[in-house]
Amino acid sequence: MAIVTGSFGSRVRWSFADRLDGVSRSPYAAGNLADHVGDDPDHVAHNRALLAGSVGVDGAHVVSMAPVHGNDVGQVTGPSAHPVPDVDALVTMVPGLALLTLAADCVPVLLGDSVSGVVGVVHAGWRGVTSDVLGKTLDALRDMGSRPENLHALVGPAICGQCYTVHDARFDEVVAVAPAAASASTAGERALDLRAAVDERLRIAGVTSTRHGACTYESDTLYSYRRDQVTGRHGGVVTLLADEER
Ligand SMILES: [Zn+2]
Repeated sequence: MAIVTGSFGSRVRWSFADRLDGVSRSPYAAGNLADHVGDDPDHVAHNRALLAGSVGVDGAHVVSMAPVHGNDVGQVTGPSAHPVPDVDALVTMVPGLALLTLAADCVPVLLGDSVSGVVGVVHAGWRGVTSDVLGKTLDALRDMGSRPENLHALVGPAICGQCYTVHDARFDEVVAVAPAAASASTAGERALDLRAAVDERLRIAGVTSTRHGACTYESDTLYSYRRDQVTGRHGGVVTLLADEER
């Protein structure tokens, strides 16, 4: 995988991987990180270990989730061999765990606050934007002691506001809650810009954010469910470093 790595201050490291250079084979080639899409589990574990290594933890300390397009937030207190079920966000204050969020058109968000020592990840598609899973995650991080001015967000690759065409009812439902999502294709069809909605939600909350990555639908270095149906998932991890690693 081509892995991009960065920091949110002194105690939080993040990494984001595209689909290049892993060991998965077609149609999951090559850096698939998802174990729920039919890929060889050994290949997924290998790819996850590569990503975990980039933030300095071993693969056993990667905690993932099994999203259901809801808005529940999972509190992670230790390593887990299985994905946390029925949540679309994870948060933790435990150093040395790598929280993983996966996507293939939906918006993956990595969150971290080095001052209070909390990290989180979010998976937000149109339902997540409508149900404000990001806002619920920010609430959870605040309850753990984080302040918006100390929190950083990285908004990962997603299908863009020209490619994500939707029917009128869905457009209306999402835009009623998140006006920033309103977009149109170059042909003038109604479309949703989920990353614009996520950016606006972070701005309203007073959280500094940066974007990473291109349109998933247009980029063959990223997975796109709408484009390929049977495919893998790219994603990112965020880790609160143990004190000795700082
Ligand atoms: Zn696009």
